[in-house]
Amino acid sequence: MQIVDLRGKLPVHKTKKYNIRKASDIRSLAIHHSLTLSGSAQAFATYHVNTNGWPGIAYTYVIDKNGTINQCLDHTTIGYHVGNSNKHALGICMVGDFRTQIPTESQYKSVLELVRWLQYQLPNATNVLGHSQYPGYSWKACPVISMDKLRLNVVKGDDVDMTEAERKEIDSLKQLVSAQANTIRLFEKQVAQIDPPKWFVSEFGSEFIKKKMSNPQMTLEGWRSVAIALRASK
Ligand SMILES: [Zn+2]
Repeated sequence: MQIVDLRGKLPVHKTKKYNIRKASDIRSLAIHHSLTLSGSAQAFATYHVNTNGWPGIAYTYVIDKNGTINQCLDHTTIGYHVGNSNKHALGICMVGDFRTQIPTESQYKSVLELVRWLQYQLPNATNVLGHSQYPGYSWKACPVISMDKLRLNVVKGDDVDMTEAERKEIDSLKQLVSAQANTIRLFEKQVAQIDPPKWFVSEFGSEFIKKKMSNPQMTLEGWRSVAIALRASK
């Protein structure tokens, strides 16, 4: 996962400053869409500062349509994005208007990776919520995508590359499974009903088998037992 560091490179308010928190104050990751068909961290920062009069960009991270993750604020900077919950929430915004669009594949993959990475960095950030799931925002069409699915995909983690240790573990499990499959095949061979083996035919003759046996099929073990019994009775 690659993060482009835009901290200190985006427009900020001349006098106003965002408040600061401890990283351990962050209890949730807030997912937003930009509500614009296109856009960028630069464009949002300009709008938030010049039009809204905020100290800086609202979001800590902005994810472009091509999947690029831009860090815009320190984790300890309290951006304005979920009202009264700001102090305990870290804002992640995907560029797009998901009322009419859906996240691109790269964007969705990036948001999952970012959420996993942040939850690892910020152990108290146990919740991953859509903007509209914060108190006072149920009216807000943000981020419109299914948060249940997103949370499930975060946990499933099947789009994450394995570490070398995990890959080795998987390889040795595969070897174990294929060794067991061979054992099962051997076992199936042993219990299979087979025609008289060559050594039985040559010892007792095919005529004998035809005359004395109504159903000349049994397991290899069965043929051995019959052979021993026949030899004993000779
Ligand atoms: Zn939002």
